[in-house]
Amino acid sequence: MSATNNIVLVTGGTGLVGQAIKTIVDKEKSINSKCISNETWIFCGSKDADLRDKGQTEALFEKHHPTHVIHLAAMVGGLFHNMAHNLDFFRENMAINENVLQASFKYGVSKVVSCLSTCIFPDNTTYPIDETMVHNGPPHNSNFGYSYAKRMIDVLNRGYAEQHGCRFTSVVPCNVFGPHDNFSAAAGHVIPALVRRMHAAVTRGEPTFTVLGSGRPRRQFVYSLDLARLFLWVLREYDSVEPIILSVDEQDEMSIGQVAEAIKKAYGYQGDIVFDTSKADGQYKKTASNKKLRSLHKGFQFTPFHTAIQDTVNWFKDNRDQARL
Ligand code: NAP
Ligand code: GDP
Repeated sequence: MSATNNIVLVTGGTGLVGQAIKTIVDKEKSINSKCISNETWIFCGSKDADLRDKGQTEALFEKHHPTHVIHLAAMVGGLFHNMAHNLDFFRENMAINENVLQASFKYGVSKVVSCLSTCIFPDNTTYPIDETMVHNGPPHNSNFGYSYAKRMIDVLNRGYAEQHGCRFTSVVPCNVFGPHDNFSAAAGHVIPALVRRMHAAVTRGEPTFTVLGSGRPRRQFVYSLDLARLFLWVLREYDSVEPIILSVDEQDEMSIGQVAEAIKKAYGYQGDIVFDTSKADGQYKKTASNKKLRSLHKGFQFTPFHTAIQDTVNWFKDNRDQARL
């Protein structure tokens, strides 16, 4: 960041991660934090510009002249949405990423932080996965469209660095959850989908609660507000083009069954959890190492999972009218 007049444009600013960043930025503003005194933040959604469209993307950059971009905008969804729309995930995300990075170059943005995901890593791999392995083999077939499009961000970042000396980098979060998530049953990720269904089960007094798949797959989950704090650190402090994994520790990986138990506890649900094994499990695990993060950003504390789940459930209860369903 320069000493004065940094303008940070957040694409995807209306989504789960974008709104979490906004919450942390607002918190910094409210305490007059020194970090933020030289930063102006702009949070954009698809209503501000459809980033699949080059003209609209350039108009957005022309309007704001950002010096920094946090690029979150993407077609995003859970396992079942990916399985049904691999082509759309590939085409939409390729278009968005091409337009945002090219506009960033054209308008002289000094730093871009884009977002990959641990689900884009090779399926057939050794564990733990680290940042050097992004391109080491085909991704899981269930989300190949999203994965290949996301991997191309890293290709673009390297190209812009080599040919033009740009500082475009990427972060690799594990599964994210929190307030403002997409709680849609069809498109949502596992935590918001289960929260929404648990809410219905409790409201209707249903005796059983169904989790899709076997419940055995394992995932690392990061609370969106923790991820937001890490994004600010990357924007301000991390200067390599190489991706960096933003995840909880390997030992915090848990099964989908354990996630369902945590949501049951947060709701005080008394019924039984059952598993519909006719539904897909997706990738069994994608255990990622946060060694690089831990070595560069010592002492970062993640919110305990059960606290973050309870906060998310409370947010959903309080904000059902405005939640994406
Ligand atoms: P999200 O809640 O679904 O938000 C997506 C954001 O992208 C929204 O602000 C949406 O705007 C915007 N967007 C979508 N299509 C657009 C378009 N054509 N033009 C302009 N804006 C568009 O997603 P999220 O979970 O916050 O994801 C943010 C980033 O994190 C993504 O790059 C995603 O791949 C990555 N990520 C997510 C997870 C996860 O578990 N959620 C895990 C790893 C990485 P509207 O609100 O106007 O539709
Ligand atoms: P992934 O981590 O990219 O595979 O995405 P998800 O967040 O969609 O997690 C998928 C895992 O949760 C798979 O093992 C699913 O079988 C399991 N799961 C259980 N119930 C649900 C549900 O209602 N929605 C989703 N998306 N996944 C579910």
